[in-house]
Amino acid sequence: MTQAATKTRGGMLKRSICAVFGHRYIIERVLNRGARKVGCTRCLAKWAMHDETRSFLPWDEEFEEMYATGGILAEGVDAVMAKGDTQC
Ligand SMILES: [Zn+2]
Repeated sequence: MTQAATKTRGGMLKRSICAVFGHRYIIERVLNRGARKVGCTRCLAKWAMHDETRSFLPWDEEFEEMYATGGILAEGVDAVMAKGDTQC
């Protein structure tokens, strides 16, 4: 369990609160169908969540790169955002 422990300094107290009470998850960004970036409002940790593979991984630079505008996995974003949006 060394995930992101060395990355985020200064959040240690909050992080231990999360360890006791659990993280306060929010969806930060919908990446594409079945994938989203999840964050904790308390300790500010970030994860990548993927339904199909049931992945829940610490968000790192690699993810940021892949899902950044122009990244290889970025193209699905618009489709998801447009889903359920009936305007136009
Ligand atoms: Zn947390």
